Amino acid sequence: MDIDDLLNYINNDDTESEKKKKKKKKKKKKTKEDEIIEEKNENKEDEKINKEIEEKKEDKDFHSKKQKKQKKIYLPKNINTDNENNSTNIPYPKRENKYQDLIKPSENIEIIETRFQDNSHLRLINNWEEKSDKIPYFQTNYPTKSIDEQYTSLDCFSTGIIQEYNENNIWRSNNEEKKELEKYYKYTITSMRKAAECHRQIRKYAQTLLKPGIVLIDFVKKLENMLKFITNANDLECGQSFPTGVSINNIAAHHTPNSNDNTVLKYDDVMKLDFGTHINGYVIDCAFTVAFNPEYDQLLKCSQEATATGIKNAGIDMRLGELGGYIQEVIESYEVEIKGKVYKLKPIRDLCGHNMLRYHVHGEKSIPLYKNDEDNAVMEEGELYACETFVTTGKGVTKELKNCSHYMKDNLAFNNTKIKSSQPKSLFKYIDEHYSTLAFCPRWLEEGGNTNVQKSLNYLCNIGVVNPYPPLADIEGSYVAQFEHSFMLRPTCKEIFSIGDDY
Ligand code: MN
Ligand code: MN
Repeated sequence: MDIDDLLNYINNDDTESEKKKKKKKKKKKKTKEDEIIEEKNENKEDEKINKEIEEKKEDKDFHSKKQKKQKKIYLPKNINTDNENNSTNIPYPKRENKYQDLIKPSENIEIIETRFQDNSHLRLINNWEEKSDKIPYFQTNYPTKSIDEQYTSLDCFSTGIIQEYNENNIWRSNNEEKKELEKYYKYTITSMRKAAECHRQIRKYAQTLLKPGIVLIDFVKKLENMLKFITNANDLECGQSFPTGVSINNIAAHHTPNSNDNTVLKYDDVMKLDFGTHINGYVIDCAFTVAFNPEYDQLLKCSQEATATGIKNAGIDMRLGELGGYIQEVIESYEVEIKGKVYKLKPIRDLCGHNMLRYHVHGEKSIPLYKNDEDNAVMEEGELYACETFVTTGKGVTKELKNCSHYMKDNLAFNNTKIKSSQPKSLFKYIDEHYSTLAFCPRWLEEGGNTNVQKSLNYLCNIGVVNPYPPLADIEGSYVAQFEHSFMLRPTCKEIFSIGDDY
């Protein structure tokens, strides 16, 4: 993609005729999905799984959505794209931070000027070291400073972990033209670095709270309040990019507590903590697995290694179906013993990594977790990706559960003219203004003062302007682990933004 293409890609809205065409396609797809949902069987035999995987290719889940390639993306209203090509004067927000009261510690916690943090209660998650040769640190331990108090310009954020491209692309690291092109991506890269530093500081704090016996909704609220404070959240300018995922055991993804959920985290649980930050619509999507019991070490290690392998083999011109093969190879090499039972680990076939576009956590490309010779899509220069792997002791296919907590505005819902009812209409306006095309949960809508949230959400889902993303779970009694990092295929090298001392 050259610069002109990219600018068109960023700036243009769909024409009316294209919108209609897409809507038609979408409608057709929905009917098929509905059939699939209706076909649900309670007891599934092993030989049915392959058929199910075929069906899942049509699934509307945003982890696995195989959309037709969309040339143009929808940007929220009033988003300035003028800075995209500006290599010198990137404006930096100077706003008052209104979130101090939200993060006041409940007990008398000592605030110390130290980076070190002992994470030994969390399996496979490393300690934060006093000194990092990689990333400088200006935060206190219990966080007391917002990101803007620590870093006074976008240029200050340090580079993530750099990986050189492989032999086919190693010429890029010293190519003058490619070096020049780096300037064009400066706004993207620096926004991603800032979002990543926020993510590290927030998760470091979250790690201190993770203990058996905590009530998950309390934990999630504390994390989200700290996220608001550190990012100095301001709707579409910066803040949280999707609901805090706390998916336990056989649930792989898309679970955050709704307001009536009092689930407690247990010593024997395996929990995927998946949350995201964004700066100017540039998203860090990054996750780790929480376990206290050493019995799960190999399960966690498998996902960690698979994700690292995916990132290592990623590169410009890499075919996504081939990349999936490298991930699959790692996962299927693991055999683990949990509670006296031996399992050969499997990838979850209907979940995958994905590219990311501005204000769109999931772009049009997927990194599958298995070899796929039919998928000819390749990775391209300038793309942002989240590489995530889901490894399981179960069947390797998910089903949708009830109690949906993740929702997102439909990418094609540009206006609310077809919303006749007044409460859903004002809720849709609220969603559009606060989240646009980023995912949200009912709890946030309630915290924002909206009433009758579930009823209005159901209405908006029924008419297709909002889509539900229910929790996705492997079979009862299985365990799923996940690790995820965000990176960019820069013109001269690969930069992994979200790595920290912890994972
Ligand atoms: Mn994620
Ligand atoms: Mn993701």
